[in-house]
Amino acid sequence: MARRKYIKSEHAKKLEKEMLTCTNCGFCKSVCPYFEDNQWDPSVARGKVILAYGLVRKEIPADQSVVERLYQCTTCKDCERRCPSNIKVVDIVEAARADLVAAKCTLPAVEKIIDNIKKSKNPYGEMGTVDLGAPVREAEVGYFVGCTGKYRMPEIPKHAISILRKLGVDFTLVEEVCCGSTMQRIGAKEKDVTRLMKANIDAAKKLKIKKMLFTCSGCMRMFKEQYPKHVQVPFEVEHLVQFLAKQDLKLKPLPKRIAYHDPCHLGRHLKIYDEPRKVIQMIPEVKYVELAESKETARCCGGGGGVRATEPQAAQRIASRRVKSASEVADILVTACPFCVSNLRLGNDLIKVDIAIKDIAELVDDLLVA
Ligand code: SF4
Ligand code: SF4
Repeated sequence: MARRKYIKSEHAKKLEKEMLTCTNCGFCKSVCPYFEDNQWDPSVARGKVILAYGLVRKEIPADQSVVERLYQCTTCKDCERRCPSNIKVVDIVEAARADLVAAKCTLPAVEKIIDNIKKSKNPYGEMGTVDLGAPVREAEVGYFVGCTGKYRMPEIPKHAISILRKLGVDFTLVEEVCCGSTMQRIGAKEKDVTRLMKANIDAAKKLKIKKMLFTCSGCMRMFKEQYPKHVQVPFEVEHLVQFLAKQDLKLKPLPKRIAYHDPCHLGRHLKIYDEPRKVIQMIPEVKYVELAESKETARCCGGGGGVRATEPQAAQRIASRRVKSASEVADILVTACPFCVSNLRLGNDLIKVDIAIKDIAELVDDLLVA
């Protein structure tokens, strides 16, 4: 990366006025998982807003420290909830990142993800196929697995597939490519993200899908919130938990204390809070416990926004705090996103507390009577 380079800020410039509404009140410090981790003001929302403003005004160069700070954001949106000025912090961070990528002033881990997706259509750079035991064919219900489920946590889509079969749903997998979430979060070019969107929509159209189900909250948010801004989405978009909440599930009893971790993409971004809780509470003998910080105030797992790749140790520490607080009240921490499961488990590798961490697909499939 070039040192002391002043960059064009084509994307962030559009949000310059938004940046100026930051009063520096510091309320964002009370919620930002990154600030909680490193206690550094440039890493909190207001710090990143100031850095983005400095880049736009060409008052600061895009040097290593500035670039690192702008990638210290999981895009969890908790600061936006807390911000009295309603600043769109996530949009500002992502716009600044887009300018950094365009100026070739980014981090090696970010370049690697973009390169991987261009070459292999997934952020992990996996070239092979993964057999999840279900076909691709015409059906009204599609299941979009997502890259993390497919390449890193295949047991989760296998559980989802098993659930759909037990419920007698006529479904199909999709010849999918990365949904584009990671690319968009880290600032890749819009045309590269749109290319992925078009490929997924075309693949779904060929199969005549009318409803697409998701187990990954990040993919779900892309299709629900971002795709319609760029492409026509000719099908209904639903997370598996929303689908399950409408079913009459016959579940075996489980006399355990279960807490639910709201993935930021599904919770704060899409405001889907009730359905996962409803599904968990369908389980006979379960004692559902609400975490102190839940729903709108849920703490982030720490892995999103590219942080798991750019600063894995910070992602792990942030996750460990979430797991520790859950372990004080629950036997099982359930969530609805393979990426959160993966990062929360990584967090527990650090502290090794006595709690099982599961995706809701795994929990339901293990208890669902066929
Ligand atoms: S809460 Fe909002 S207005 Fe206050 S310092 Fe943070 S970003 Fe600025
Ligand atoms: S989106 Fe989350 S990680 Fe990013 S600045 Fe706001 S609170 Fe911090």
